[in-house]
Amino acid sequence: MPSAAAPKRPVGPQAEPTPAGGVHLKPHLTAFEGSLASLETAPLAVVVDLVRSGRARTRPELVTASGLSRKIVTQRVEQALDAGLLAEDGLAPSSGGRQPRLLRFRADAGYVYAALLGASEMRVAVADLDGRLIEDVHEDWSVENGPDETMARVRRHFEHLARKTRLGRPWAIGVGVPGPVDFSTGRLVAPPIMPGWDGFSVRSWLRDHYDAPVWVDNDVNLMALGEWTRGAEPDGRDMLFMKVGTGVGAGLVVRGRLLRGQRGAAGDIGHTHITDDPAKICRCGRPGCLEAVASGWALLIELTERAAESPAFSSAIRRRGHLVLADVGAAVVAGDDLAREVAGRTARTIATVAANLVNFCNPGTLVLGGGVLRTGRYFLDVFREVVLQRVTDLAGQDLEIRAASMNHMEGVTGAALLAIEHLFSPTTLPRWVEDASPLGHAADLQRLSNAFA
Ligand SMILES: [Zn+2]
Repeated sequence: MPSAAAPKRPVGPQAEPTPAGGVHLKPHLTAFEGSLASLETAPLAVVVDLVRSGRARTRPELVTASGLSRKIVTQRVEQALDAGLLAEDGLAPSSGGRQPRLLRFRADAGYVYAALLGASEMRVAVADLDGRLIEDVHEDWSVENGPDETMARVRRHFEHLARKTRLGRPWAIGVGVPGPVDFSTGRLVAPPIMPGWDGFSVRSWLRDHYDAPVWVDNDVNLMALGEWTRGAEPDGRDMLFMKVGTGVGAGLVVRGRLLRGQRGAAGDIGHTHITDDPAKICRCGRPGCLEAVASGWALLIELTERAAESPAFSSAIRRRGHLVLADVGAAVVAGDDLAREVAGRTARTIATVAANLVNFCNPGTLVLGGGVLRTGRYFLDVFREVVLQRVTDLAGQDLEIRAASMNHMEGVTGAALLAIEHLFSPTTLPRWVEDASPLGHAADLQRLSNAFA
């Protein structure tokens, strides 16, 4: 997200007189010589972003929020109105003088495609430019089917949604995958639970099929972004999102931006080593990973092995052939001892890791999300209690701990937001705004946005 703080004066290679009467360029401007063009047009992205995010609704509010001059704001608002990205919509209450006209972002000016691939399911959607889902489909699907089959499936869903919504070509595409992604290339790098995907570029595959820029990120990062932006009572505080599904991962939003680290690996904690117990072999093949000890996968394996101890689990296995996380929730509610023992231990381990992370990065909100929420309130209650025991006093002050609030839609919403943020960045927006649409600019936008990422 572009910073709201922008220079007050129009930016450009302004010359100023030296005492000797000569001229020289200001040092801080010469440092930006290579990108002067985008600096001159950056105010447009700032203006659109302030209206889009609801932080400003009128021209005077834009002047206050952006620090830009009234003249620049007026020019940029006109440009955004011409491009159909903003619209005027009635009058705001007067604060003394003339009533200012209300501005709103035109979320229906274009559409994006979004997909979130989990280890065992996918959700695919068409969203407007606010990241609100217009139509979506969900399918149980294993990424172990491999990249070509999986991506062909995603494409089939996109085409189905396009026919259903009749909305035309997407402006951009955002995708989340359950493995480490090199964010600059959209390529999977040694994903532990995605056989056949190592080195596969989701971006290249989609760029071969769609004339739209594509951004790819880790699934948990996008869940964090979706929950931070569209979740319950968004308050702008830093958020740590802990996903516990088949696998385990973390995503961190700091000052409104995802923390990806140098290559996109930040938060990928599922395969950190936490025990020397040789019996705990992980799906990745190594012993002692967090996911081998505490994850939806490990939870179901242990309960399946010990099902004979519990009437609830043995009857579920007889009925369906295997256990799902919702069985754990039902068993806990029914007072099943085995369910409480194993779910409680898993929650305590995850909470210990989460408390360490909270101590490290001091978020305002800690969110628990992923398939584990299907096990019911018990897991969250244990998780909260143990986190609060184990965080430092200062990191625990004002720490809100809650469940993800979007009914498992935060990830696909985050995928849409990822695409939208990159379309409206100060680097990319000026490139297409004069055409009022990014269609036809895909290659350019893809190249430019890497600088923004
Ligand atoms: Zn592992």
